[in-house]
Amino acid sequence: MGEYYDIIVVGAGPAGLTAALYGLRAGKSVLVLEASGYGGQIVNADKLENYPGIDMISGFDFATNLYNQVKKLGGVVKYREVLKIDEDKTVHTARESFRAAAVIIATGARNRELGLARERELVGRGVSYCATCDGNFFKGRTVAVVGGGNTALEDAVYLSDVAEKVYLIHRRDTFRGEMGYVKELEEKDNVEFILNSTVKALNGDIMLKSIDIDDGKGQISTLPVDGLFVAVGREPVSRCFANVVRLDDAGYIMAGDDVHTGTPGIYVAGDVRVKELRQLVTAVSDGSIAAMTAVREMKPQDN
Ligand code: NAP
Repeated sequence: MGEYYDIIVVGAGPAGLTAALYGLRAGKSVLVLEASGYGGQIVNADKLENYPGIDMISGFDFATNLYNQVKKLGGVVKYREVLKIDEDKTVHTARESFRAAAVIIATGARNRELGLARERELVGRGVSYCATCDGNFFKGRTVAVVGGGNTALEDAVYLSDVAEKVYLIHRRDTFRGEMGYVKELEEKDNVEFILNSTVKALNGDIMLKSIDIDDGKGQISTLPVDGLFVAVGREPVSRCFANVVRLDDAGYIMAGDDVHTGTPGIYVAGDVRVKELRQLVTAVSDGSIAAMTAVREMKPQDN
């Protein structure tokens, strides 16, 4: 049958941990299931300067404070990947299953991969998805950033102050990100744009040594680089819940009234849901609303 909790939260990012915090403060038993480490994407933010009421804090410290709040109130956090949720709110992991009166899905979004051979194998060996986390390993070296959105542009700006040379590779000739960043990069001597081009292969035995680039006209050239920063957007972690929630074309969970999935007792919070603004402040807002809605809608027999 599996252990029973009033609320199971799937995902220990800011949305999930806030949901847990509010559920616990309402007197409910709460289990948080997390596939990797707590904190979600925010742990990669070097400095948070736009969270109301806090002048500046690192993403890691913010997440740790929130995690400790949950633990202090008796929240149970288990590191398990959730494989499936049943309509009756049984939550399955590879090792065991759990039951709950309410389930809050807060699995967030993860970095999109390029989908190249050896991409995963070379993570930490030259390939990275986080310039602020790994940029310092490339002091005085040559790196490339792939992507044309604000993340890629910001990463290129950040890396231009660390690395000796930065290539910015984008598949089109115009950027999706802000012109201000583009102008800033154009003025830097150590930044070179490689436009209308895609990365086709990653080369190197143990460490990344070079990348093959397709110029879109059939010409492939090899560019020696020590690091490749992939910044081609994010995708929601939602596919395995498609049996109990509805997904939009991009895979985000459709939410009525912000947190209702359409399946009674199953709610959604944070970056994994369809929403206008994916920010820390909206993630924690979702978490609190999802938990309070779950508590309000819990039937007496659920307790
Ligand atoms: P994004 O805006 O979706 O941009 C992703 C970029 O990657 C696009 O330029 C896209 O090319 C390219 N791309 C996608 N798949 C690719 C593939 N397989 N191969 C090569 N290129 C690929 O993602 P983001 O930059 O991570 O930003 C996400 C959101 O956060 C955006 O709304 C952004 O404005 C926001 N953000 C804001 C700030 C800020 O305000 N300071 C900072 C970071 C992010 P195409 O353009 O051709 O589609």
